[in-house]
Amino acid sequence: MNTYDVCIVGAGVVGCAIAREMAGRSPEDPLRIVVVEQQEGAGEVTSRRNSGVLHSGVHERPFSLKERLAREGSALAVSYAIEKGIPLLRTGMVIAIAWEDIRRGLWREASTLQRLWFNAWRTKTRVKFMTPSGLRALEPRLQACCGLVIPSVSVIDPRAFVQSLKADSESSGADFAFNNRVIGITEDDAAYLVTTDRQKFRAACLINAAGLHADEVAALAPPHRKYTIRPLRGEYYELATPDKKRLVERLVYPALPPHATGKGIHFSPRPNGQLFVGPNEVAVEDKTDYTSRKTPPGVFVEALRKFVPELEERDLRWAYSGIRPRVMTGDGCKSDFIVSVEREDPPLINLVGIESPGLSAALALARHVGDLPCIRRRFRRTGWRPLSPGRYER
Ligand SMILES: Cc1cc2nc3c(=O)[nH]c(=O)nc-3n(C[C@H](O)[C@H](O)[C@H](O)COP(=O)(O)OP(=O)(O)OC[C@H]3O[C@@H](n4cnc5c(N)ncnc54)[C@H](O)[C@@H]3O)c2cc1C
Repeated sequence: MNTYDVCIVGAGVVGCAIAREMAGRSPEDPLRIVVVEQQEGAGEVTSRRNSGVLHSGVHERPFSLKERLAREGSALAVSYAIEKGIPLLRTGMVIAIAWEDIRRGLWREASTLQRLWFNAWRTKTRVKFMTPSGLRALEPRLQACCGLVIPSVSVIDPRAFVQSLKADSESSGADFAFNNRVIGITEDDAAYLVTTDRQKFRAACLINAAGLHADEVAALAPPHRKYTIRPLRGEYYELATPDKKRLVERLVYPALPPHATGKGIHFSPRPNGQLFVGPNEVAVEDKTDYTSRKTPPGVFVEALRKFVPELEERDLRWAYSGIRPRVMTGDGCKSDFIVSVEREDPPLINLVGIESPGLSAALALARHVGDLPCIRRRFRRTGWRPLSPGRYER
């Protein structure tokens, strides 16, 4: 049996970021870390099936974990991408209200801009209020009566991001065990015994970063905490008509009413020049159901033609979908990220409901986990200390 200090379940962006952080924190006396992953590589599911947006956090409740970690994590990710040469599109985000919405009397959308502005003010995030002509100067085809622009928002190549985090972790000594699905976890003499469908690992600390399956992994590990993750699919179409591939250059989001659970179907440009529209929200039964009953392209055109009337159904080609690991709270509201220390000694940490903006938050989430008192206590003997900010910031 292989013995480690830390076992991380899941090699998505979060598991890889935590492995990198933990492996880099004690370079003179490195921790033995293993990341156990059921797929054949890192970032094969949700972490590559998203919009790649490094969010500012203004859509989230100020100072919630989602807001704080997205704000901090996005800044870290931008520095990291520049340092590592990861493709990055520094587009800024436009959140707009269409003339059509105002004509239809959708004043709640207008109050949304006010709320986002207030969130930005509270968290000291730079935003600009835009008039129709200001918006047209940015995006000539955009028809909107007003909007906010958040200049700091960028789009990263999520696959390259995950691969770079994995490579950093490996070069600091972490092991990756792919094609290993965790099927059992027991406690054994102040450590966890992690059984996969192929082998066993023993580790003094267990971190559950299993994304969509984090509820199932949490149920395996003592004290068997119960969470329920509801899979919520988000679908994307690509702009395929050659002269419309650059219909817009920036991220263009709608201002949704306050009760909306997502951020809305948006124009989603990527660092490689592709332009997508999406994602919507479709409840699915199966956590791997990416393609059954695809939503027709007309739904996406309907959502975005009010901003760009040239958009037509025939311009769109099915692209891909991703599945959000949504945890609903008892009152039916969207949950904050859950980072739960289920046991202090030996440490067991469950990360549950890491939906959007989890990609943005990954590097800050990793710091947050590394700074947890139970982790610091457990690894004090190995010279445990945070990575110096110089490793991250420009
Ligand atoms: C449609 C969509 C759009 C999004 N857009 C954005 C965005 O623009 N910006 C943003 O910040 N975030 C976005 N997100 C959210 C972001 O993608 C996620 O928050 C992030 O990828 C979560 O990473 P993760 O590592 O927690 O999970 P995952 O990527 O799901 O990784 C978990 C890993 O655990 C593995 N695993 C599960 N069970 C087991 C087991 N029993 N044994 C071994 N391995 C196991 C899985 O195979 C998987 O590789 C979006 C998500 C979706 C679905």
